[in-house]
Formats: sequence, structure tokens, C-alpha cells
Amino acid sequence: MQGILDKQLIRKTSFINGQWQDAADTFEVRNPANGQLLAEVGNAGADEATAAVEAAYQAQKAWAATPAAQRAALLMAWHDAMLAHQEDLARLLTLEQGKPLAEAKGEIAYGASYVKWFAEEAVRVYGDTIPAPSADKRVLVVKQPVGVVGSITPWNFPNAMMVRKAAPALAAGCAFVAKPAAETPLSALAVAELAQRVGLPAGLFNVVVGTDAPAIGKVLTQHPHIRKFSFTGSTATGKRLLAQCAEGVKRTSMELGGNAPFIVFDDADLDAAITGLLAAKFRNAGQTCVCSNRIFVHSKVYDAFADKLVSAVAGLGIGDGLAEGTQIGPLISQGAVDKVAELVNQSLAQGAQCRGSAPVPTEGHYYPPTVLTGVSNAMAVSRNEIFGPVAPLIPFDDESDVIAQANDSEYGLAAYLYSRDIGRVFRVSEALEYGMVAVNEGILSNAAAPFGGVKASGHGREGSRYGLDDYLDIKYLCLGGMDK
Ligand code: NAP
Repeated sequence: MQGILDKQLIRKTSFINGQWQDAADTFEVRNPANGQLLAEVGNAGADEATAAVEAAYQAQKAWAATPAAQRAALLMAWHDAMLAHQEDLARLLTLEQGKPLAEAKGEIAYGASYVKWFAEEAVRVYGDTIPAPSADKRVLVVKQPVGVVGSITPWNFPNAMMVRKAAPALAAGCAFVAKPAAETPLSALAVAELAQRVGLPAGLFNVVVGTDAPAIGKVLTQHPHIRKFSFTGSTATGKRLLAQCAEGVKRTSMELGGNAPFIVFDDADLDAAITGLLAAKFRNAGQTCVCSNRIFVHSKVYDAFADKLVSAVAGLGIGDGLAEGTQIGPLISQGAVDKVAELVNQSLAQGAQCRGSAPVPTEGHYYPPTVLTGVSNAMAVSRNEIFGPVAPLIPFDDESDVIAQANDSEYGLAAYLYSRDIGRVFRVSEALEYGMVAVNEGILSNAAAPFGGVKASGHGREGSRYGLDDYLDIKYLCLGGMDK
């Protein structure tokens, strides 16, 4: 595999109870930039997932009893190892996922920042004492790790989506079983290699890789030892997994799909809005859950904004993520390209116009960065999560109307607005039915902030001081006879 210096980071089998597990059968991982075979990976299934949950169960109690400062020190060592191997981890990520190398390096640093954040939070899991209702009682609250956590994560951030869950889980004193997406298992396995190197005790961090997601998912949502299930992926899959979790009344965190509005008011700094939009729309070739999906532009500045965007998009470098100057890599698969093309074609048939797109390499799964004008909130590109480098511009005239249009979606993950009117900034951000609102900014996620959505975008928060609560149970201690 091109340019990866530390070959031991290229792991091709599941990691369970501190051991690399051979499998009878394998599946292929291919580079979406050129279709080349990267690895034949051991295909694990329900049996391996069960073994991982049982190993996690055995390891968790001792880990929970380990002083928080020791857990934090191990997490910091893991963080340091990730940064020490940032270049190799990023190359591996680009090879299997396609994003430009600079973005992949950013993802490794971003994932590691959650490990550092939660290592620091691990030592601040405070309880409460509450004034009791009578003189003979004392009321105490302690927080305890939920236990064994199962997780399933997608291919668009193969490192960070998994690490962002594992870090708070381990910091809280939980044990963790991960199932990464079958398209991108190598990044997760490399992180497991580093966990082993820094001496994380066996069984605490397990990675099960395989193509039978429903079978592995059934174990991770329904095994009696699973106490919490954390998912990032599409809303359709999330609903199915939530239903599976309901049977055992498991705690859940669901980071699901989005359909982010990006609102540009007529008082906005248009150049800043273009810079923000390029980041919010075209990062990872438009394959992020917080990608701006519907770009509402005030009609007074609509034409000027469209012109600026068309010329900015024409300058984007498209190609293999490992090539110098690439800003837009391939999509994850040909199926993804076909889906984006279908949404664009439907919208063109409904009256949208294509104002700009660029040529793409003939080999690999590319879709040209595209600007659509004359779009309405009812068209196919507005109703669906595009998950590709397509920017649909919708004109609007009125503040309350654009709020209503922005909220007219089943999703509620991220929203963006550009305005220099402080009153409007507050009015609109308070009215938007979204878990996160970025104001005059195109990149909103960081470890200090609570990431998550409302409505069909899910529940739970990742990062911030709230993120640890997702992995802790509250226990109330009632002490009686205290007046004698
Ligand atoms: P997906 O189809 O839901 O797949 C995500 C994960 O679920 C993969 O690991 C997949 O495994 C697994 N999976 C699929 N069907 C399953 C089943 N029946 N049982 C158990 N596991 C199953 O999502 P995607 O299309 O790959 O990912 C993109 C979606 O993720 C978008 O909707 C995006 O908005 C969302 N996302 C959300 C966030 C957030 O934080 N809110 C962040 C990133 C992405 P296989 O790959 O092995 O099939």
C-alpha cells in the first residue's frame, strides 16, 4: 500500500480480546479513486461479534474500577500514538475512502482531539449531594459507566466517527465493540493496532469487520451484555437499529442523516459566505452529514452569489486524494455517483438549471462539483440528502419564510446562516429546528462542542462535557437513619 511507512498499521483481521482473529473467508477493500484492490480482509460475522461482546464484558468491570487518572493516562498515550502516526493513518484513510490527503490528516487530528478531550474529562465525573426532604436522610448521586457499548459507524469518516464514540466510552469506564463500514475497515483496524501498542488492556476495545452488517448489528443491539448502542449512519438504518434496541431497552445514541440549510441574507459578507460554503458543501466531496444541502440565498444577492460560487467551484482541483492539489476526491462507490446523478437529473427535469460543473477523471467514482440555480425547496435535491458535490441555490425574500422553508425537513442536524445583523442572527438561530447552528462559519465541529441532531437526525451528543453523559448512568443513593 503506497507510501505507508509503518506496515504493521495495515491490519486485515478483526481485533477481539486483544488478539487478531483469522477468518475463514475474506472480502475486498478497493480504492475508490481507481478501483485497485487494497486488501483482502477477514470476514467476521455474528460469532465474532458475540465473542467481542463477551470479552468486553469480562474486561469492563476491572476497567471501571481503575482510577480515572490511570484511564486518562492510557487514553492520552493512545492520542499521542495517533498523532505520531498521523501521516500513515491519513494515507490509509485516503486510500480506502478517497478524501484528499490534507482532509484525511485533518480527520486523524480531529479524531485524536476527542481522545484528548475525554481523557481530560475522565477525571471530572462529579456526582451530587442533594438537600434531603427529611432530617434522617441523605441524598447522594453518583455516576457510573453504563457497561459494554456496541457501535456501528459509516465510511465517510472511517477514523473519527468511531474514535468519537470509543473515547468517551473508555474514558467513562465502559468497554467498546466497534463495527466499522465494510467499505473502510482498515482505518479502524489501524487504530486498534495503536490501542494494543499503548497497552490498553485486552477486551476493552474490539473491532469486528465483516460484510454481514445485519447479523453483526443484531448482536451489537441485542446481546444481553450490551448496555448501550451508539450508531452513526443513515436515518433508515438508524430506525431499524433503534427498533432492535427497543426489545432489550438498551440506551442509544443516534447520529443520523441531515439536510442542512445554508442561509445567506442580503446583509451578509458574500465572500465570507462563499468561503464557508466551499467548506460546508465540498469537504469530503459533499459526503458529510453536516453538508449544506439546501442553499437559501436572498434574491437581492442571488445572482452575485451564484456568479461567485460558479467561479470558485470551477477552480476546485478534482482527482486522486493522494495527488498534489486535490480538493475533491472520488465518491465512495459507483452507486453513490449514480444516486447523485439521479437527484440532479430529477431536479433539472423539475426546472433547475446547471450553472457550473467541472470535468472529472474517467477512471474512479467521480461526480463533478456542480452548481444548480433556480432550485425550489420541493425539488428532489432539496428533499433528499444529496451526499455529493452539488450545490443547489434556492432564492428567498423574507426572513420568516426562509425559516419556515429551512425547518421544512424531517432532519434537524446542522444549519448555517450568514448575516451581519445581530438581532437577525439571534432570531433565526433560535427559530431553526436544528441541533447545531453555525453563524458566519462553515466548519462547526470540534471536541469541545456538543455534536448532534434533533428530529430524524437522531439523539445524543458527541464531544463537549455533555458527551460523557451518554456513557454514564446516574445512580441515586438514599441514606436513612442519619439522625440517630
Ligand atoms: P448506512 O447505510 O446507514 O451505513 C452505516 C453503517 O451501518 C455501516 O457500518 C453499515 O455497514 C451499517 N449497516 C447498514 N445496514 C445495517 C443493518 N441492517 N444492520 C446493522 N448495520 C447496518 O449509512 P451510509 O450511507 O453508509 O452513511 C452515510 C449516512 O451516515 C448519511 O445519512 C450521513 O448523514 C450519516 N452520517 C451521520 C453523521 C452524524 O454524526 N449525524 C455522521 C456521519 C454520517 P456496512 O457498510 O458494512 O453495510
